[in-house]
Amino acid sequence: MPRRQFLLTEDQIPTRWYNIVADMKEPPPPPLHPGTREPLGPEALAPIFPMALIEQEMSTERWIGIPDEVRDVYKIWRATPLYRATRLEKDLDTPAHIYYKYEGTNPSGSHKPNTAVAQAYYNKAAGTRRLTTETGAGQWGSALSMACKVFGMECVVYMVRCSYDQKPYRKMLMQTFGAEVHPSPTTHTAFGKKILAEDPDCPGSLGIAISEAIEEAVSRDDAKYSLGSVLNHVLLHQTVIGEEVRLQMEMAGEYPDILIGCCGGGSNFAGFAFPFMRDKLSGEKPNLRFIGVEPEACPTLSKGKYEYDFGDTAGMTPLLKMYTLGSQFVPPSIHSGGLRYHGMSPIISALYDQGVMEAAAVSQKNIFAAAVKFAHNEGILPAPESSHAICTAIDEALKCKESGEAKVIVFNLSGHGLLDLSAYDSYNSGKMA
Ligand SMILES: *Cc1c(COP(=O)(O)O)cnc(C)c1O
Repeated sequence: MPRRQFLLTEDQIPTRWYNIVADMKEPPPPPLHPGTREPLGPEALAPIFPMALIEQEMSTERWIGIPDEVRDVYKIWRATPLYRATRLEKDLDTPAHIYYKYEGTNPSGSHKPNTAVAQAYYNKAAGTRRLTTETGAGQWGSALSMACKVFGMECVVYMVRCSYDQKPYRKMLMQTFGAEVHPSPTTHTAFGKKILAEDPDCPGSLGIAISEAIEEAVSRDDAKYSLGSVLNHVLLHQTVIGEEVRLQMEMAGEYPDILIGCCGGGSNFAGFAFPFMRDKLSGEKPNLRFIGVEPEACPTLSKGKYEYDFGDTAGMTPLLKMYTLGSQFVPPSIHSGGLRYHGMSPIISALYDQGVMEAAAVSQKNIFAAAVKFAHNEGILPAPESSHAICTAIDEALKCKESGEAKVIVFNLSGHGLLDLSAYDSYNSGKMA
């Protein structure tokens, strides 16, 4: 049996984040002011973000140091393990070597605390007392609730209503971490009231919840807003994942041929893949492949248009150049709530447009079949979102079986599915749409 576990000690937690913008042939086009359509200056973002995060958002420095206070909180759960999926390899009877990085070992169960902790820290340092945010399935809200509690701040979460109803346990987790949680659309904001007047049964969407959270943040002096994906500073904070994987693949004595991650707004994929993508951008590894996997029901990269669009539904955010299904698109209520977003990170959009990475779209039935196969072999119940990456990793491993190639496939298991049991129940009982 080949070695399965590649573990790091807390001293090996990275001391700096990697900013891929420094190495891109063409940096992503700048965000535009929604009124004037001129590139946005830092002061335009000051009502919603602290200056340290705005500087990171606009930075072209390759490396940005991780503050000791943030690294100390990372030590609650980092470094995270890398495993070789020896049992899955055997079950698939593939010559491929399959590895996965597991980001589900922290209290909220996904990669999201990597940025939540950093954002809470910079807000606290700038005097913010209250953070507002949106959440889809609840992973981001749980992450930010935990981070706000650590730094002694209030947290208000606008939770997409269909997830609030389908996933009550995440709401309870957020409340246990001390957050206020509201099903969005709410009657607390002008925008929520407008949506409910048009459609009282609106299931909500991330776009709507973002509008509500921003509306509250700009209407109060003590509050700022926090976003869990899409933006450059969020992707930056997530690169601790891939920097650890680099060390772990060295321990394994292998280098990847294919890196795979699921893509909602793009943050876990970016954090996992960018530290390897710099080897492709530098010309050192020209054939290295990257695949971002999305749901067929919300195929932003595969079917969207590359154009300037709003990040939210009300049109309160800057215009971002990104792959988008349109800011008015309300995705179907699939179980992968974290992947129900109309847009995609501008950095990932630019890299996809430049042909540096590929995209794949998979169906809900196929991802649950992959999730269950993975659970049977590896003993971890994956998040439905992460199962998109598993599904494509299995597809690639089966191609290796056909061709007889022993490729090294590495994917990011972005979170566990222990709070998604109702989705598994619906799959197990054959009721899944
Ligand atoms: C939120 C979430 C995602 C999707 O968000 P990205 O920003 O695309 O990473 C994926 N997996 C899990 C487990 C999540 O919680």
